[in-house]
Amino acid sequence: MAGKKINLTDQLKNYFGFDTFKGNQEAIIQNLLAGNDTFVLMPTGGGKSLCYQLPSLLMDGTAIVISPLIALMKNQVDAMRNFSEEDGIAHFINSSLNKSAIDQVKSDILAGRTKLLYVAPESLTKEENVEFLKTVKISFYAVDEAHCISEWGHDFRPEYRRIRPIINEIGKAPLIALTATATPKVQHDIQKNLGMVEAQVFKSSFNRPNLYYEVRPKTANVDKDIIKFIKNNPEKSGIIYCLSRKKVEELAEILQANGINARAYHAGMDSATRTQNQDDFLMEKIDVIVATIAFGMGIDKPDVRYVIHYDIPKSLEGYYQETGRAGRDGEKAYAVILYAKSDKTTLHKRIPDTFPEKDYIKDVYEHLQYYYQMAMGDGLECVREFNIEDFCRKFKYFPVPVDSALRILTQAGYLEYTAEQDSTSRILFTIRRDELYRLREMGEDMDRLIQAVLRSYTGVFTDYTYINEDSLAVRTGLTRRQIYELLVHLAKLHIVNYIPHKKTPYIIYTRERVEAQRIHISPEVYEHRKARYETRINAMLDYVTNDTVCRSRMLLDYFGERNEHNCGQCDTCISLRSKSKVSEQPDREALCTKVCGILSRESLTPAGLLKQLPMDKELLTEILHRLSDEGKIIAVDGILQIRK
Ligand SMILES: [Zn+2]
Repeated sequence: MAGKKINLTDQLKNYFGFDTFKGNQEAIIQNLLAGNDTFVLMPTGGGKSLCYQLPSLLMDGTAIVISPLIALMKNQVDAMRNFSEEDGIAHFINSSLNKSAIDQVKSDILAGRTKLLYVAPESLTKEENVEFLKTVKISFYAVDEAHCISEWGHDFRPEYRRIRPIINEIGKAPLIALTATATPKVQHDIQKNLGMVEAQVFKSSFNRPNLYYEVRPKTANVDKDIIKFIKNNPEKSGIIYCLSRKKVEELAEILQANGINARAYHAGMDSATRTQNQDDFLMEKIDVIVATIAFGMGIDKPDVRYVIHYDIPKSLEGYYQETGRAGRDGEKAYAVILYAKSDKTTLHKRIPDTFPEKDYIKDVYEHLQYYYQMAMGDGLECVREFNIEDFCRKFKYFPVPVDSALRILTQAGYLEYTAEQDSTSRILFTIRRDELYRLREMGEDMDRLIQAVLRSYTGVFTDYTYINEDSLAVRTGLTRRQIYELLVHLAKLHIVNYIPHKKTPYIIYTRERVEAQRIHISPEVYEHRKARYETRINAMLDYVTNDTVCRSRMLLDYFGERNEHNCGQCDTCISLRSKSKVSEQPDREALCTKVCGILSRESLTPAGLLKQLPMDKELLTEILHRLSDEGKIIAVDGILQIRK
């Protein structure tokens, strides 16, 4: 591929339907196609994933995309399948797949159907996967969310540090690393760890000149304030983020009661309703989404005109990411935080909630063994469903610190806790293929669905087959909700068995049970992370309490970008300007004295006077009128002189 430049714009149009590249996407892709290691720093919403998606389609072999979150992988795989007729085009491998699903993935890869394979570092480093990948032609490696490599990044994952040696073992190919966290420390750490210090770096600016940042006091009438804000922006799309699911539902109801077309969105809702609300927002059937931060990952609505944070965000990284969902079309958009002084206490309380005492963590570990009746030395590779409410009820815990304790145990390598995991939907026809004629009288939508299923998946009459409602929706022109309902209907008629996907938290033992007292939680996993967590919280508090520095500048500074200019449109810029207007009010008394002083030495025309005492012409006229009215000066033939 090196040496010859292909017309990328045509390919972009061809595969993704876009007419032009965003920012420096094209240069990045050319660099990767030329076989060079590539380092990409790009803010959320800049179009990071396209930088490896498009080359993967153009190059021979399969691209390995190392990505930290199962939910993200799934979104991306679904998205790629929507761009292609071939479901095998993209796959992921992780611990949620059963053996037959993994076999399917492998056979697609070996048959050359798969251009993108998503893996978490934990799966990449598994011996069996390494052995398999050695047999595969790999076009390049992409490390997405590469800040996870850095202990200075906000979600450090120790497994990420093994990526380079594993790549060397599997077989060398160009490497592209991408991150939206651009602090200089993180950047250096990533490059060093991936052995790509020589890589060409593509850094996009993190400046968003169309965003109007603002921090408003959260008053006792906060809901009314929000309603007023929304009504001042009629028929505009907006997102309101709240920290708790409860608040999300309350606020959505209040807005609806006030005639605002708003819906809730949070991880606790059933997935059909959630998807429906998201689709309705995208299709502009509703104006406002009230959501927890779970909303927005992987959605790209260009004309969101405001993002309001009802509660103070946890970090500036998170804040930057969430506000990045506003104004993607480049038009003016608002990013507003509502801040009450009491939020400071709430935020500080997050520290012990996120980093409970080490003894507490060990207790949770111990109780988990009772919960699963796991004997000492047992447990390696065991996968168990985990119901946190049930666990907390049995052992009298609060869920939040338990969740944190399990995350820390995950970091420390004792187990793998996946709080939210999507299992894929499956179906199996319980009638025979030659009985399909029975389905003829069920309407056009059903016809389209059945046809799409039969065309897209093989083996649906013999075994449970993984299906994807989103891609079926695209293929049939129906909504995801309709697909879901049709499948449920078929299930009720005993024509198919349908297992809709569900979110089930899992605990996977990555080593056998040890005595709680022998659990070692290293400073890298606990003390260092806790210190960085505190630093991030303090940076967030600085941002909301600051009233002297431009907010846009503060954010850029945080991401290591020097910017000499104030944005001129955030609330601090505006209030600084109005303050300086007051203080810049010229001191008229002093000017009168100065003018009299000059004129007492020599008589001058107004123009001559201006030369000696430069000032605004209008202001001079005003001063002269005043002195003349007071009888201190007169003008004779246009020459000003002191009245004796
Ligand atoms: Zn500003």
